[in-house]
Amino acid sequence: MSLNDRQTKNEVFLKNLFRKYYQENKVEPPSSMEKREFGFMFFGAQTMVRHLAFSEPESLQRFLVSRAPSNAFHSAAYYAKPDATRMDEKVWEGCDLVFDIDADHLKTSCKEVHDKWICQHCGQSGPGKKPEKCPVCGEQNIEEKTWLCEECLETAKDELTKLIEDYLTADFGISTDELKVVFSGHRGYHVHVTSEALLDLDQNARREIVDYIKGVGLEPRYHGLVEARDGRSKILRGPRANEDGWRGRLTRGVVKTILSMDESSIPQERKVKNALRVLLKDKDKVADSLREGVWDTVRGVGIDVWGYIARLAVEKVGGRIDEPVTADIRRLIRLPTSLHGKTGFKVCPVPLRELSSFDPFKHALAFRGEATIHVDEAPKFRVGEEEFGPFKDEDVELPLSAAVLLICKGFAYLRG
Ligand SMILES: [Zn+2]
Ligand SMILES: [Zn+2]
Repeated sequence: MSLNDRQTKNEVFLKNLFRKYYQENKVEPPSSMEKREFGFMFFGAQTMVRHLAFSEPESLQRFLVSRAPSNAFHSAAYYAKPDATRMDEKVWEGCDLVFDIDADHLKTSCKEVHDKWICQHCGQSGPGKKPEKCPVCGEQNIEEKTWLCEECLETAKDELTKLIEDYLTADFGISTDELKVVFSGHRGYHVHVTSEALLDLDQNARREIVDYIKGVGLEPRYHGLVEARDGRSKILRGPRANEDGWRGRLTRGVVKTILSMDESSIPQERKVKNALRVLLKDKDKVADSLREGVWDTVRGVGIDVWGYIARLAVEKVGGRIDEPVTADIRRLIRLPTSLHGKTGFKVCPVPLRELSSFDPFKHALAFRGEATIHVDEAPKFRVGEEEFGPFKDEDVELPLSAAVLLICKGFAYLRG
């Protein structure tokens, strides 16, 4: 079988399965669906078909069954004319606030193990994220083969919990009733905030929210870290650990940063190296006074050194969200309860109270049955309670959801 035949066969197989899924499962359209733009991708095609609109759930469902798209999206925005083909003719009426947390943008050690890039020009390949251009031939046409594992998804879930608990509910006061969490179907989660009060925010306002959550440009002196004179001597006061917002978060982050540092991990920066060495000798005691807002217990560690540590701390405790998804008020996001074409997993809404026990490799599975496929190469993975692989150039019989995952990823093809 030629590579082309293989691919066509895979696409037909997946398309039929996706169609069957949409025949048997009702998708949950977004609120005010008649004001949303919809977009789709199809098996065997690279481009997105967009500027579509559906006035009621039945017509959307009919479309999904008849066309069996590989990926389905809707606008976070509401428009008077969602199907107008020019953006300026759509008449923007507001937009949900959406956050995207994706393992693609998180530091995880697993990516070096299970992700790989291949230069389409010279064939050079390497582990991890793809470089800007090929280190051998300099071409930019580089393909990535990514995988998703427990570590990716656990890291993403931890970030999601931090976003919701530390920022959205605690700092912004958004009620949990107005938060909808969705597993993306691949390596992350989306949060849709549908509060009426936020719909009108423009691009700049949304970017401010992103900056706040990431701690971009955070200046410790605006959060209570100040040098004052006490008679002849200088004293240094800072925020206490139990304060609200970034003040307390900053202190907690600084404490966490120094407690996690030791001799071997001291930054080599000349200005701070010696001060840090002194500070770390008594770090537990220092941490205790920091928590109480007293920042000058170590001689020689002044506001500059704390500023340096504060920057490290912000990286640790700041939220790691993907900026364009939140800031772009015309973006399309995945339709919850549709299928993700890179995995065959369900884009799965997750009630907040079930988040801690939500298991994507179990709860997002969309297919039942078995299939025999030929696997070129695949790492060890789990689907449901069972572990599979690693596989190399072999025929295997797998639960259908596992087979679909490998075929969607381009790691396997249908036998026969
Ligand atoms: Zn190359
Ligand atoms: Zn991983």
